[in-house]
Amino acid sequence: MLKIAFSPTYKYELPEGHRFPMAKYELVPDQLLYEGTVRNDNFFHPGLLDEPTALLTHTPNYWRKLNDIDLSDKEIRAIGFPINEKFMHRGRHIAQGTVECALFALQHGVALNVAGGTHHAFADRGEGFCCFNDQAVAANYLLHHGLAKRILIIDLDVHQGNGTASIFSDEPRVFTFSMHGERNYPLRKEQSNLDIGLPDGMIDAPYLRLLRNTLPRLLDEFQPDFVFYQSGVDILETDKLGRLSVSREGCRERDRIVFEYCRQHRLPVVASMGGGYSPRLADIVEAHANTFRVAQEVFF
Ligand SMILES: [Zn+2]
Repeated sequence: MLKIAFSPTYKYELPEGHRFPMAKYELVPDQLLYEGTVRNDNFFHPGLLDEPTALLTHTPNYWRKLNDIDLSDKEIRAIGFPINEKFMHRGRHIAQGTVECALFALQHGVALNVAGGTHHAFADRGEGFCCFNDQAVAANYLLHHGLAKRILIIDLDVHQGNGTASIFSDEPRVFTFSMHGERNYPLRKEQSNLDIGLPDGMIDAPYLRLLRNTLPRLLDEFQPDFVFYQSGVDILETDKLGRLSVSREGCRERDRIVFEYCRQHRLPVVASMGGGYSPRLADIVEAHANTFRVAQEVFF
């Protein structure tokens, strides 16, 4: 059965006019329930990330600063959300959601988190709407507990997974693959194990061809036994930050390629939602909902 991490805390109240489309975290599960793609029992409520697990990835000093709400104005500006206890609580639920998804994926082949993909969080700092790096936290959890030996992170958000690349730069058991807009944020890129920087305006056919050609190569070269997928939908042509021109259908095909790849090779996979900044909320919600629909179709 498709297990999906969701908590009402995922939707965080933002000041009026904030540019982050927070409503999507409620609308995506509502849409999936409404249309019958999932039922209530597909969802589970994740617990709170605990300190020992967090410290497998984040520095003690950063963890303390987050918990004490003791960040400088500069650090808060870099993250981009107003930070208080509620926000920290939310972040810990999201990261734990990805950890628990990983355990479900070992059982069911796949699990998804209705948030996360917070790939701009580094070991010692956050930026770009990210404070904990949920996929890094979950990957380190699996390694630490001997539940996976070689983990592939497929990051297809339009922005480079800079935090993830940095966290695993000295970790041979994790392979970071990021395919992103070359001219997009972050300006100063980190080095993933494989970076594919895309030109502005790229359309479906070359985008999908590149992905199709790359994934089998990673399987041969790295031989992963677990996959995390960052399924950001800011690659859409409608996205106001993305600079690419992938259609909604193309984005759905992207998800299918990743999930079929994992299923064919019996690789448990956890998807976290990642970014999406189309001006029409419906474009964002539809594209994210497609990730869940495709997961259902491919795995069950
Ligand atoms: Zn993004």
